[in-house]
Amino acid sequence: MNVNLFRELPSVDELLRSAVLANSTASSPVALREAARSLLAELRSAITAGEIDATALDRRLQTLPDAILTRAERTRRYSLKSVINATGVILHTNLGRAPLSPAAIAQISAIAGSYSNLEYDTDSGQRGKRDIHAQRLFSRLFTGIAYDDQMSVSTIVVNNCAAATVLALNTLADGGEVIVSRGELVEIGGSFRIPDIMAKSGAILREVGTTNRTRIGDYQQAITPNTRLLMRVSRSNFSLTGFTEQPSLDELVELGHRHNIPVFEDHGNGALVNLQAFGVAEVHSVQDSLRAGVNVVSYSGDKLLGGPQAGLLSGRPPLITAMRANPFFRAFRVDKLTYAALAATLTAYLDEEYDDVPALRMLRLTEADIFRRAEALKREIGSATHFAATIIPGSSMIGGGTPPTATLPTHLIALRCESAQKLESRLRAADPPVVARIAEGEVVFDLRTVFPEQDAQIVGALKAISNE
Ligand SMILES: *Cc1c(COP(=O)(O)O)cnc(C)c1O
Repeated sequence: MNVNLFRELPSVDELLRSAVLANSTASSPVALREAARSLLAELRSAITAGEIDATALDRRLQTLPDAILTRAERTRRYSLKSVINATGVILHTNLGRAPLSPAAIAQISAIAGSYSNLEYDTDSGQRGKRDIHAQRLFSRLFTGIAYDDQMSVSTIVVNNCAAATVLALNTLADGGEVIVSRGELVEIGGSFRIPDIMAKSGAILREVGTTNRTRIGDYQQAITPNTRLLMRVSRSNFSLTGFTEQPSLDELVELGHRHNIPVFEDHGNGALVNLQAFGVAEVHSVQDSLRAGVNVVSYSGDKLLGGPQAGLLSGRPPLITAMRANPFFRAFRVDKLTYAALAATLTAYLDEEYDDVPALRMLRLTEADIFRRAEALKREIGSATHFAATIIPGSSMIGGGTPPTATLPTHLIALRCESAQKLESRLRAADPPVVARIAEGEVVFDLRTVFPEQDAQIVGALKAISNE
């Protein structure tokens, strides 16, 4: 170690007074100071370890202010940032599920920076309930749906569908038995497993049937005086084909009715429109479940509903009221931003302006729409980069709690290149990152999930990679 080298190191204050840093407006003084300290510490360790001589140190000191600036800017960057989703998976959990509508974003921004009547009734000047901001909209959405005794549907909002399911099970079945088919004891991802959730909720799992076949008689035979719920769980992320059988919701409701046991469905994907109209046969809507007489349905706000992360519980008013009274409801409650975004998203449904909700718009894009954009992008890629692009048929996935068979026909842009892995990873390193898929040795883009204004950014990223 050459101890004399320590004397060459400037102080943090000297560094901050250097022209590059003193005039920088790109970063904050606090971030610059922190970066200067850490870079100086690194130089000190290098000297202590004898890794650096006088010439090398001199070189490092020359570029130190620039290095400080770069590091300060890098550490100040948000780690959560927007990316371009070119995977064609509309509701991609890793990519943040549903993008919000412009109306939802505007409503968040209107509420976020000021006080609001979240729990305040401006007419009476009294304390109000935050639930009403969603309840009224859901009531309008479920107009015309009523249980046999004419009761209408009530809805409450919690943090996510996992919380909604815990709240329902704990409220309606703590200490009692819940009958579930063995074919529905699923893991949703991120360690949401039905048997574990059930145990934590205090309910006792009573599994019936087999993995592939469960009949209504299996449920009937399992009913005891301690049975509190008949539960149906959507097979969210897998499909069961071949020799299979599952009772319909109607049959479950009929059985529950006869024994005075409520039916609870963990619906998950939260479709509020009929997807059969778009060629997706596998998914039934929340309304379908409610119309079948299911007593409580839980579903996510950020899957097919296309809104903010939330868990919704819709069902018979006495059951919903019981859940609202559970202390877990307070623990799982959502903030004003969620209500703001949810209200704006539901308003699009009430106005039947489905294309205002990005997830629904992407779902409704036709093959012809996508083909036209793909053609234009292919031409631009051809003229701006050295990549050879072709258009090939493919399928987009809906994702978000729908089975993997829930796909939509699309056209993919396929890029031939030396190494698809390398290109795919360079695209992820772009700003904004472009997340694409690899299929048969080619990098493919599905424009279904790319916002049209992002097409140019994809070309820009490819151009930069092409010029490297
Ligand atoms: C997605 C899903 C969940 C979990 O929903 P989150 O909103 O992510 O908590 C639970 N159940 C089913 C059936 C689902 O599809």
